[in-house]
Amino acid sequence: MRDFDFLEPATVHEASHMLADLGDDCRAIAGGTALMLGMRQRMLTPTHLVSLARLPQLRGIEFDAKNGLRIGALARHADVATSPLVRQHVPVLASMASRVANPQVRNQGTIGGNLCYADPSTDPPGCLMALGAQVVLGSSRGERVLSIEEFLVDYYVTALEPDEIVVEIRVPPLAAGTGGVYSRFLRTAAEHRPLASVAFVARHDGQLCREARIAVGASTPIPVRLRRAEAFLEGRTIDERAVHEVADIVAADIEPVSDARGSADFRREMVRVVARRTVAELFGLTNIQGAQP
Ligand SMILES: Cc1cc2nc3c(=O)[nH]c(=O)nc-3n(C[C@H](O)[C@H](O)[C@H](O)COP(=O)(O)OP(=O)(O)OC[C@H]3O[C@@H](n4cnc5c(N)ncnc54)[C@H](O)[C@@H]3O)c2cc1C
Repeated sequence: MRDFDFLEPATVHEASHMLADLGDDCRAIAGGTALMLGMRQRMLTPTHLVSLARLPQLRGIEFDAKNGLRIGALARHADVATSPLVRQHVPVLASMASRVANPQVRNQGTIGGNLCYADPSTDPPGCLMALGAQVVLGSSRGERVLSIEEFLVDYYVTALEPDEIVVEIRVPPLAAGTGGVYSRFLRTAAEHRPLASVAFVARHDGQLCREARIAVGASTPIPVRLRRAEAFLEGRTIDERAVHEVADIVAADIEPVSDARGSADFRREMVRVVARRTVAELFGLTNIQGAQP
């Protein structure tokens, strides 16, 4: 690995100036799990790393009833998974974070780093999209707030400007009667990264679905909301037939990627299966045909 200078700014303003002044020769570093791999493989050869570790603004997890969760960008996956606030107020997010990668990566990798790397085969982006989360970007020019949909632009591409860093993620409070389920499919038990994932958040009275948000991740270049499937569910009493029909709509409406890990057709089928299981689980219909893990 090439030698580099390690810079430790104390404020977002200072970090932003460093990133702007050093340009392409420079990278921000949080947990380093993605960046160090890229540097070891010589895909990235920065001369300077700007550590985000000393920025207090990027730390902590808080909740208030009006604004919901505020998760500092430096929160590690393990912090999100074990936070009493996340577990109490947005349990689906804690459940998702507890399944990311393996214990080593969960204890080192951050939620901010995960979003900024924009690797499609990851868990948080789809789950955060179904939850209607926002990303707060900071720089010496001030702050801007983007929805996850606005932040994730394409395969490994985000809306971050060169002098910006992700400061925090905001997750709005869930309305009363809202539940959520996150499911992922791994190609082999030894593989950590998901090949397909479905995040489903719904407000419901028993079997009657009032509001639905579904996002598919890991099988498409960036996660996608499935609006036609959501409209199909809203106002409907969810039974076995509805579960099968909505899974078919989800599978029909995505444009999966095709690569060495799986063809587009295989991914579409796996998304259909995962969507069926996810919707069935939220509505307590796990005994129906085709919904067992
Ligand atoms: C073996 C392995 C298995 C994995 N499996 C999974 C999995 O199953 N599910 C899953 O979701 N993910 C998985 N991952 C990905 C993992 O979640 C990410 O590597 C991790 O979250 C990245 O966070 P980090 O803090 O280590 O980022 P870093 O490596 O420090 O940074 C990653 C990128 O983001 C930039 N960056 C970091 N933080 C910020 C910020 N706040 N503002 C602006 N730019 C920033 C850096 O400049 C860099 O370009 C896996 C990774 C590994 C190595």
